[in-house]
Amino acid sequence: MAKYIFVTGGVTSSLGKGIIAASLAKLLQARGFKVTIQKMDPYINIDPGTLNPYEHGECYVTDDGAETDLDLGHYERFLSTPTSQANNVTTGRIYQTVINKEREGAYLGKTVQVIPHITDEIKRRMTLLASKNEYDIIITEIGGTIGDIESLPYVEAIRQLQWENGKENCLVVHLTLIPYLKAAKELKTKPTQHSVKLMNENGLSPDIIVCRTEEPINGDIKRKIALFCNVTVDAVIEAADAETIYDVPLHMMQESLDVICLEKLKMPLRHEPDLKRWKEFLFKLKNPKSKVTIGLVGKYVELQDAYKSILEAFVHAGAVNECKVEVKNIHSEYLDKENVKSSLSGLDGILVAPGFGNRGIEGKIEAIKYARENNIPFFGICLGMQCCVIEYARNVLGYMGANSTEMDIHTAYPVIDIMEDQKNIIQMGGTMRLGAYGCEIDVHSKAYEVYGKQYISERHRHRWEFNNSFIEQFENAGMKAVGKNPETGLVEIVELPNHPFFIGSQFHPELKSTVENPHPLFVGFIKAAIISQSEKKNKTSLEAGMN
Ligand code: GLN
Repeated sequence: MAKYIFVTGGVTSSLGKGIIAASLAKLLQARGFKVTIQKMDPYINIDPGTLNPYEHGECYVTDDGAETDLDLGHYERFLSTPTSQANNVTTGRIYQTVINKEREGAYLGKTVQVIPHITDEIKRRMTLLASKNEYDIIITEIGGTIGDIESLPYVEAIRQLQWENGKENCLVVHLTLIPYLKAAKELKTKPTQHSVKLMNENGLSPDIIVCRTEEPINGDIKRKIALFCNVTVDAVIEAADAETIYDVPLHMMQESLDVICLEKLKMPLRHEPDLKRWKEFLFKLKNPKSKVTIGLVGKYVELQDAYKSILEAFVHAGAVNECKVEVKNIHSEYLDKENVKSSLSGLDGILVAPGFGNRGIEGKIEAIKYARENNIPFFGICLGMQCCVIEYARNVLGYMGANSTEMDIHTAYPVIDIMEDQKNIIQMGGTMRLGAYGCEIDVHSKAYEVYGKQYISERHRHRWEFNNSFIEQFENAGMKAVGKNPETGLVEIVELPNHPFFIGSQFHPELKSTVENPHPLFVGFIKAAIISQSEKKNKTSLEAGMN
């Protein structure tokens, strides 16, 4: 039988529950246990697919096409194992299931209520992954903060599961904040005591308390928290601010979070966590031999979470190349013909981000033109790829006003067009081309060089595609469609063979980059940026020598 660990949050949001859950999972995995993590989000949306990135950050997509919370990205980046539809549940989905059942008459005339019907459905979802018999431990992160009205049914569901299965099978790890008051020079435990009291009021108590803190917590404070929150002293864990999120598993190992969890779950420790590859990655990350600056051109750049997976993929790809990747945010909305040179000169590479709708499109196209004409390594993802097709059509093929029909329905040159099976869709949520699809790569291409294989599978989230009726014109003019879906012929990768690195992908490679498996396209892009930088330096010193 699988064991359950629930991770709740107290005092405030943004404490990094996802990172703590992922770090704990990593340690347990490194001890040889099969672990998965799921997220329960208490909001009413069915999934975050219809949410604006400003609201909720990036929408993460799984192989099986679920539009999910960005924490699932952390789970995959830490564990290198894929998540699925079942790993993200929202209150909206819980209610949808219960209401559908009510309409089918499945409740046989009973009054449908939060308890037991909603809590039963929550419990069913909490234990769903266990039914596969694939996991030893299932970690469930509960979104929001204890005390929120929305979280109540989840707390009640955990209480019931614990009562049904016993504490040794169901553990509660509570992540809380221990603020440091500068004026008093003191760490304060009261907010934590209050958040545990709130949990107690609902019949649940934490087994382990993880304390986020900016200052080290001494033994006295640990004892105080243990006494007033009714846990053992060794179950009070310090989680100090870390240099990078990838340090957190090692911090948690020092604090024995994995050991105390396993002891409380009455499971064997097996062996010390094997973190060899993880540590190698960290060493390279912290000891770079070079540095490149990459421009991230997008319209949500003021909110870092909107491009979470892209930023993390840069961290992974930088480490393999022993190179520090500095990302310069460039707001596509404010980029134009006049300022493009001053905004982008000095960059070693330019990535044009995914997106939806018209805002910032012309800026993205200007950035691509600049990268193409100045031989700066370029990487376009999804909308970024579509924009590089539009740019080529306008400025190389001479198709004035070429566009995607997403931006201009009446364009004379619809080089990017809506997919046939998307034309009649009116429901917005979960209806894009989502999840993993295969792609066959031309062996005579940069993309093939980068991947080192011909058949790949990547994740998608789009409604528009390269319009294949223009393919010949593009190929004759020099832009090659080097990756295609073998079943439909949909163009997945375009590139310019006579440019140092100019690749656009219709899919989202950033969603599959992990610490232990950095994505080849990102690795190749950073490599190209390093080369481009050193060539630029050589050229300048040569010119200086000639003068
Ligand atoms: N808006 C474009 C489409 O739907 C691109 C989507 C994206 O960048 N994820 O096809």
